[in-house]
Amino acid sequence: MTDIFQQAQVVANYGSLVTVAMEDGSLLSCKCKKKSLRPLCGDWISIQFTKQQEWLVDSIAPRKSLLTRHSYQKTERPLAANITQMIVVNAPEPGFDLQLTDHYLIAAKSIPVQAALLINKLDLATSPWQETFSLYEQIGYPVIGTSCKAGDGMKSLADLLHNQTSILVGKSGVGKSSLIKKLLPDLEIRIGALSSASGEGKHTTTTTTLYRLPDQQGSIIDSPGVRQFGLWDYSPEELLRGFVEFGSQETQCKFSDCKHHKEPGCAIRKAVDDGRIAQSRYKHYLQLLLNQSAR
Ligand code: GDP
Ligand code: ZN
Repeated sequence: MTDIFQQAQVVANYGSLVTVAMEDGSLLSCKCKKKSLRPLCGDWISIQFTKQQEWLVDSIAPRKSLLTRHSYQKTERPLAANITQMIVVNAPEPGFDLQLTDHYLIAAKSIPVQAALLINKLDLATSPWQETFSLYEQIGYPVIGTSCKAGDGMKSLADLLHNQTSILVGKSGVGKSSLIKKLLPDLEIRIGALSSASGEGKHTTTTTTLYRLPDQQGSIIDSPGVRQFGLWDYSPEELLRGFVEFGSQETQCKFSDCKHHKEPGCAIRKAVDDGRIAQSRYKHYLQLLLNQSAR
């Protein structure tokens, strides 16, 4: 009898063992065939049922994206594969953090994945949050508002997640785990199922895990590591790419290697003065640029 091959997606990784989801949603534990094969959560893989009656990881499909706890100079620790969307969560409590938001938007560009902004805890909003975030909408990022407490905005969130593999990032306390619990009401049962499927592997809440949404039309990848991956370092090019609205102006700068700081004839500074680029974004750009040169 020849070996049977099937396609599956890795939902959790425990070193030499991975748990995968089959097309019908059932979970299986598989061994990695070779040391060089290192499947990650989110990877699409081909698995092989051997004569020894065990499932082995045979190959990994090319990745669309790779999320690493990254540092462009130092070694990178891979966290998950095939993420398509980063949702940056802010909330009036513990407070909007536009600088951290800009940081995440740079990271999203460098992965690269698309990004969207989510403002949670609207039940606590005292200031017009739309005004604070309208500049992001103007430069092309979707912005949605939710309240886990009141249940508002869940339809917009479902639309945003549709057919995407998303991660939720943002500072602690903005409501990321509350949003995930709201989206996956059976989360406890799923974690139980993962624990039983993992065999020798122990599933804990710190393991990076892929959860298919209840309608199967999209997934969320989550873990404490994914939520806080934002301690990164990036190149000057990555920094600039993260400020998407600079793109169309940049070519107008007098010097082609303009850093948009003190150079004469800088089109970016002119756009800031004319109100075409938001002051807050330019300020964050300069802070990050100067931090970089100080390193
Ligand atoms: P995380 O650290 O981003 O995962 O945040 P959590 O989901 O743990 O939420 C932090 C706190 O905010 C918890 O006490 C939640 O109950 C609360 N919280 C989450 N969403 C909302 C919301 O929409 N409105 C209000 N008022 N509180 C919320
Ligand atoms: Zn310039």
